[in-house]
Amino acid sequence: MKRIGMLTSGGDCPGLNACIRAVVRTASYYNIEVIGFIRGFKGLIENDYKVLDYKSVAGILQKGGTILLTAREPRFKEYDYRKIAFENIKKLGIDALFVIGGNGSFQGAYLLHKDFDLNVIGIPKTIDNDIYGTEYAIGFDTAVNNAMEAIDKIKDTTMSHERVFIVEVMGRDSGFIALEVGMATGAEITLIPEYPLPIHVIEEKILKAKEMGKGFAIIVLAEGVASAKELAEILNQRLKDKSVGEIRYQVLGYIQRGGSPSAYDRIMASKFGVFAVEKYMEGNKNFMVAYEDGQLKIKPLEISFGKIRIPNIQEYEINNILSL
Ligand code: ATP
Repeated sequence: MKRIGMLTSGGDCPGLNACIRAVVRTASYYNIEVIGFIRGFKGLIENDYKVLDYKSVAGILQKGGTILLTAREPRFKEYDYRKIAFENIKKLGIDALFVIGGNGSFQGAYLLHKDFDLNVIGIPKTIDNDIYGTEYAIGFDTAVNNAMEAIDKIKDTTMSHERVFIVEVMGRDSGFIALEVGMATGAEITLIPEYPLPIHVIEEKILKAKEMGKGFAIIVLAEGVASAKELAEILNQRLKDKSVGEIRYQVLGYIQRGGSPSAYDRIMASKFGVFAVEKYMEGNKNFMVAYEDGQLKIKPLEISFGKIRIPNIQEYEINNILSL
């Protein structure tokens, strides 16, 4: 019986369990055994694992987080620790390692291939959706929905009190979450790092909203642009004589990353998992699953290294047209 290993690595996100389930169930279907390593690369180094069978992944599809736990493991950047990890993999008779992770995790996996000729397979996940080479990464849709629901609630207060409100969303250096959330909530202003707006333009937009008789405005701010606190201080200072009222802010934070995955994430994570195992069974090696032009594809794992994915300008323009 063939054996494969699997782990989740980097930040958690909704949909990881759906993907774990899909890999295990597909492998079981084809009579392959799955070893799940605990806490990502830490579990590889410490030989901490459990055997995952068909039944062990029952009831997890709708759950956020990851049953395999996840961790950041700095020791994996050192060859000596990767060698320990590989020895553990070899002893277990594992034929290929499935890594559900982001860019960093893919780099760690790739080094196992480069140093020890292990077959490594990457399945992309990150709420930021910024992995180069794939248009979708597990977790993004749920994060957007979580942020949208929170902003809808904030909007009630914003409208009732006729305020300008800044809401900071996640995304690290990328603006994908902010862009989609801005569109989904009808934000008056969306600020993303890829297409920066000068502060005087933001100021003009707020004043324009007031002039148009709009008592309120929501500014969706990607964390990669500035902190909401910082922006609120600057705008409050610049607009203090303009009858705008006090601009308040809210940082959404980790609520974006948790909770039950959306239907889209459950479906995409399931498809990614099934596809990864089937492509492995066809004999493919060292690839990542990618979603492009509405199709699942495999690409060399290293395609994502050193490059960043940025939102296209047309999407950004939609927000401009629909807002102010
Ligand atoms: P996220 O999108 O949540 O950041 P990620 O996979 O990019 O996901 P990282 O923290 O960058 O998350 O990486 C996860 C783990 O992958 C690290 O803790 C480390 O164990 C391993 N890793 C990252 N970069 C490298 C590298 N250059 N060499 C070896 N291992 C690495």
